[in-house]
Amino acid sequence: MSKEESSPKKNVKKEAKSFLLQSPKGMHDILPQVMPLWDKVREEARQIADFYGFAKIETPILEAEELFHRGTGETTDIVEKEMYIVKTKGGDRLALRPEFTPSMIRAYLQHGMHRLPQPQRFYSTGPVFRHERPQAGRYRQHHQINFEIIGGESNPVSDAQVIIVFYRLMEELKLKPLLVQINSIGCRICRPNYRKKLVEYYRSQPVCRDCERRLKINPLRLLDCKKEKCEEFKAGAPSILDSVCSLCRNHLKQVLEFLEEVNLPYTVNHLLVRGLDYYSRTVFEIFLEEKDLALAGGGRYDYLAEVIGGRPTTAVGGAMGIERVVEIIKETQPNALKERIKPKIFLVHIGDLAKKKSLSLTEEFRQNNIPVINVLGKDSLSQQLEAADRMNSPLALILGQREVYENSIIIRDMDSGAQESVPLRNIIEEVKRRLKG
Ligand code: AMP
Repeated sequence: MSKEESSPKKNVKKEAKSFLLQSPKGMHDILPQVMPLWDKVREEARQIADFYGFAKIETPILEAEELFHRGTGETTDIVEKEMYIVKTKGGDRLALRPEFTPSMIRAYLQHGMHRLPQPQRFYSTGPVFRHERPQAGRYRQHHQINFEIIGGESNPVSDAQVIIVFYRLMEELKLKPLLVQINSIGCRICRPNYRKKLVEYYRSQPVCRDCERRLKINPLRLLDCKKEKCEEFKAGAPSILDSVCSLCRNHLKQVLEFLEEVNLPYTVNHLLVRGLDYYSRTVFEIFLEEKDLALAGGGRYDYLAEVIGGRPTTAVGGAMGIERVVEIIKETQPNALKERIKPKIFLVHIGDLAKKKSLSLTEEFRQNNIPVINVLGKDSLSQQLEAADRMNSPLALILGQREVYENSIIIRDMDSGAQESVPLRNIIEEVKRRLKG
């Protein structure tokens, strides 16, 4: 028996310590090394949002638990199994948002935005929380970029625009080849008919345990089952597109025509239903070819506002997961990270006097809008030059004891290694000249 095994107290201590040195399961730090890619995704999203007129909005990460029970739906996995609930000191029950959509519509209704010109377009980004089993591409905290169009008529051009916006964002991020899958899940008039047909069909099939439950509480989600056993039953299931009413059929037809108008390729997938209760008519998902996990998804949700106690309000929107997108960029664009890091001029100092001087010199560069970097530690000249090399700095400026006394500075071309001493008063102009050249 090892010493550790024989000492349970020590084990407990060790476990407690390693637990404290770990982020919570399924939740990850986003480290500085990859942050440039995260920033790139968010910057592109911001630009796309600005272009298409989506205004940025931020809502609290915590919302009333009930908002998701009613909005997202009692029978969805998210609400049934995956919500993080916080009990406040006052006894309220709040949920860490498992998705954005109910918060967006809540904010729209709360602030009477129906009085503004319709529809309103919103863009939002931030973390969402789902207590799922962590695996590749599936985390307990992940980050989304959300686009929503709320208010006005239930206009198919808005459905198309939401899809276009996500598609263009992914194109800008060089994600290809992209696959858009789209379907209509009908409205409250035609969907019950389809549900009946589906239940009749599935009643005689030996489906998996989860699907037995779905058959009772949320039959549409039978089409969502990912188990191999259920694949053949899905393949033989009646198509919802044969059951939707003429209004819903016409709505989908127009959405597809708008997508064709901008040459956006799509596939109609009559099995696509998505896991949330609130969708009506259009649902869509965007994939990268040959990958199973969707990068973005969404749909129309014309009944959500009423379900949470508001006035009838049409809406359509979607979300893209940043983790999945960043992982694909890392995998398929090895230079993307390097391209994002703009090399800076490296300020090298030797000795305390030079360190002091380099502080005021940094300020002077900032006033002249020239990015510089320096390590204010005790590193030697060679260590600092190595750091400059690692950071791809084009120029290093070396300030030693002698330079401080002589009011000069050495300028080193990091490519050729050529060095020249220049008067300190001329350094800004000299750097500007070299950067231009
Ligand atoms: P959803 O709200 O489930 O439609 O998800 C929208 C997008 O968020 C998906 O297409 C994924 O890119 C991303 N996503 C959803 N769930 C997770 C998760 N658990 N971990 C990482 N990304 C996720």
